[in-house]
Amino acid sequence: MVAHVHSSYDTIVVGLGGMGSATLYHLAKKGQRVLGIERFGVPHEMGSSHGLTRIIRLAYFEHPDYVPLLRRAYVLWAELESEHGDTLLVKTGSLDVSDPDDDVFKGSLDSCQDHGLAHQILDSGQVHARFPGYHLWPEAMAVFQPDGGFLVPERCIEAHVKAARKRGAEVRTGLRVLGWEETGSGVRVTTEDGVVEAGCLVLTAGAWTAGLTELGRLLEVERQVLVWFEAPEPGLFAPERFPVFNIRGPMGHYYGFPEYGIPGVKVGKYHHLSEVVDPDDVDRETGPADELPIRAFMESVLPGAAGATLKTKVCLFTNTPDEHFIVDRLPGTDRVVVGAGYSGHGFKFASVMGEVLAALAAGEEAPGDAAFLSMTRFAG
Ligand SMILES: Cc1cc2nc3c(=O)[nH]c(=O)nc-3n(C[C@H](O)[C@H](O)[C@H](O)COP(=O)(O)OP(=O)(O)OC[C@H]3O[C@@H](n4cnc5c(N)ncnc54)[C@H](O)[C@@H]3O)c2cc1C
Repeated sequence: MVAHVHSSYDTIVVGLGGMGSATLYHLAKKGQRVLGIERFGVPHEMGSSHGLTRIIRLAYFEHPDYVPLLRRAYVLWAELESEHGDTLLVKTGSLDVSDPDDDVFKGSLDSCQDHGLAHQILDSGQVHARFPGYHLWPEAMAVFQPDGGFLVPERCIEAHVKAARKRGAEVRTGLRVLGWEETGSGVRVTTEDGVVEAGCLVLTAGAWTAGLTELGRLLEVERQVLVWFEAPEPGLFAPERFPVFNIRGPMGHYYGFPEYGIPGVKVGKYHHLSEVVDPDDVDRETGPADELPIRAFMESVLPGAAGATLKTKVCLFTNTPDEHFIVDRLPGTDRVVVGAGYSGHGFKFASVMGEVLAALAAGEEAPGDAAFLSMTRFAG
């Protein structure tokens, strides 16, 4: 039995993936005595934040209320990038494509119009003329937003942790948190290596959040697959000529990236095969059934990049019922804050989520922009 109390902190952050690394940084920046605990490494490939690229975009078909958070996220990524001294964000522009009456096109356009974002509406032929890698179906319509691009997620996590440590944060890796309880004056956290106490706890445990909270009914973990395809015409898929995309059409909803970092054009099918999984028991190998739908999409829409499969990776979504995030204090306590349920679109927000979660942990009002992510929306 573990009984030793190691030390006391203002705040402990459980999980140093996308969200936790950013929260650690913002707490350290406030001058807090903060400890981050990560069960794997910094970074690692077991959670939701690996695979070399993550789309960031201002146009937001999922809901226009995310746009103010996105504007702040861009500012914070730029600050972090300048401190880190290595590229974290590459702008390519973003394309949101669907039939004109589908929410990917319509929602993206609404978000641009509501928030005065620079954008252009392109039809199928105009997309091909401007970005010849794309061969969309005739009815497709696209919103091009020039600020879109991608983040380098592993580097973003490293940058946040490095910047947090520079400001005094402590980090323990390879250490699993087993549970926590409130005490009269704070929170006691039990790890595989003893007990640690703090005034406040932030749970950013990604796919494992249900095991540390009673939020299981709101969080569903889903297996995802990323595939890198060899591009027989690589010039068409360089970051300068190939915007990141979300395309929802007759063949489903796909997203992808130009060639960056390693050979190949990376594409995924949103929600992939809809496989709900236990995060500790995921098939991390991939097979023909995983590649089949994505290859069919490549042959139809990106034929210049439908070459050999160069690499695959398995990754995890943690979905809420409405696919919007949960960013809040846990019900019944001011001492435990949770950032979870990022539903496959959270990474781009990690910088601003760190700021919001740190504010909640420090007992400050969450910036108003994030109030729509409170879990009160699921009450009852
Ligand atoms: C294939 C794929 C593609 C995606 N594409 C995009 C995209 O293009 N754009 C975008 O914005 N988003 C995208 N997302 C979503 C985005 O990556 C996630 O929303 C985001 O990474 C979630 O971050 P997180 O911090 O919640 O989870 P994670 O980064 O997984 O972090 C959780 C951390 O908690 C640790 N942990 C868990 N339990 C414990 C414990 N008991 N003790 C200690 N540590 C613990 C884990 O090891 C992990 O490091 C994609 C996701 C996937 C899977």
